[in-house]
Amino acid sequence: MELGQIGATDKGGVCRLALTDEEIEARRLLIEWANELGLAVYTDEIGNLFFRLEGSEANAAPVVTGSHIDTQPTGGKFDGAFGVVAGFEAVQAIVESGITPVKPIEIVAWMNEEGSRFSPGMMGSEAFASRRPLEQILSVTDANGISTSEALAKTMAAFPSLERRELGFAMTAFLEAHIEQGPVLEETGIPVGVVTGIQGSRRFRVEVIGDEGHAGTLPMPERKDALFGALDMIGAMRRAFAPDEPKFTVGLFELSPNVPSVVPARVFFSIDIRHPDWPTLRRLGDEVPRLCDEKRGPCSVNVTEIATSESLEFPAEIRSCIAESAEGLGIPSAQILSLAGHDARQLHYHCPTGMIFTPCKDGISHNELESCDPGDLAAGTRVLAAALVGLAV
Ligand SMILES: [Zn+2]
Repeated sequence: MELGQIGATDKGGVCRLALTDEEIEARRLLIEWANELGLAVYTDEIGNLFFRLEGSEANAAPVVTGSHIDTQPTGGKFDGAFGVVAGFEAVQAIVESGITPVKPIEIVAWMNEEGSRFSPGMMGSEAFASRRPLEQILSVTDANGISTSEALAKTMAAFPSLERRELGFAMTAFLEAHIEQGPVLEETGIPVGVVTGIQGSRRFRVEVIGDEGHAGTLPMPERKDALFGALDMIGAMRRAFAPDEPKFTVGLFELSPNVPSVVPARVFFSIDIRHPDWPTLRRLGDEVPRLCDEKRGPCSVNVTEIATSESLEFPAEIRSCIAESAEGLGIPSAQILSLAGHDARQLHYHCPTGMIFTPCKDGISHNELESCDPGDLAAGTRVLAAALVGLAV
């Protein structure tokens, strides 16, 4: 709640975009908490923030937990923030219980997960796990023409004494606690989700080019109607994909000139396909250019794939560590697939990774009304603490 005051909106949400004054203030609060707990604080070249509890083996690769503290412009208090605060809570409990872990335990706040100011997001975790070149990330600009690199320099200047670590240092494991952002756990009344993996996605942009003409005079056989072409493409994909039950969305659709008595000359639309099974998703995505070409009629078509994320499965040993931690505490848990992307996606390429989900009210997220039951958050945090100890001792 204290963190949620920074960037608080009138409707009870939070607007705390990456590398803004609000986010700098939030970083300051986390550093204060870390100082109270006696944790060492580090940053790196991309502005990730790390808080470290030493283990008895100082050179052992740390067990790391965390998420992000940036939000959507009309975001909630819990998306991302919960995972970071849960990390602090868990580490505080470990310190107060007198346990000295063998391996260091660290909390991380990854830079710019949401991608609402600098797009696409997951910059901190992608740079850390070498998933995207640093230069490419630093050159991204916001709506006012400010680059990530400039905004990052400003943030770094606010904390001049922070020691910097190298990107991609070794980790024993990474655990991310996060609200589910969907309705499943709440509906089943189960407070903790052991995340099995993350659903992948393939995103395309399709441009259909025809020709303008008079709606009354141009004979039908001579028309190059871009709208009819686009509709045939979308209908064909819908029918072809249906047996595999992917999430198939055409969310963006532009028609031009978009005038009642002119034959549409150009259509531009998006395709977003998601499926938990990567071979299935790969096959469906590969069908997109073929089906568009087959149904273009007299028009021409350009299909561009703009983003690909593989569907992934978290390793069994991390999933069972989380499930056993819940069982040991007598907290009910269930296996659940993540339908949204998270920093854990990037870390999965770096070290054994897993996620703990907690319910959120009505499954609502990326919304100022985002809300969670304190008891559920506490249950998830207890499981996180037990799993961290399990991995670090
Ligand atoms: Zn998030």
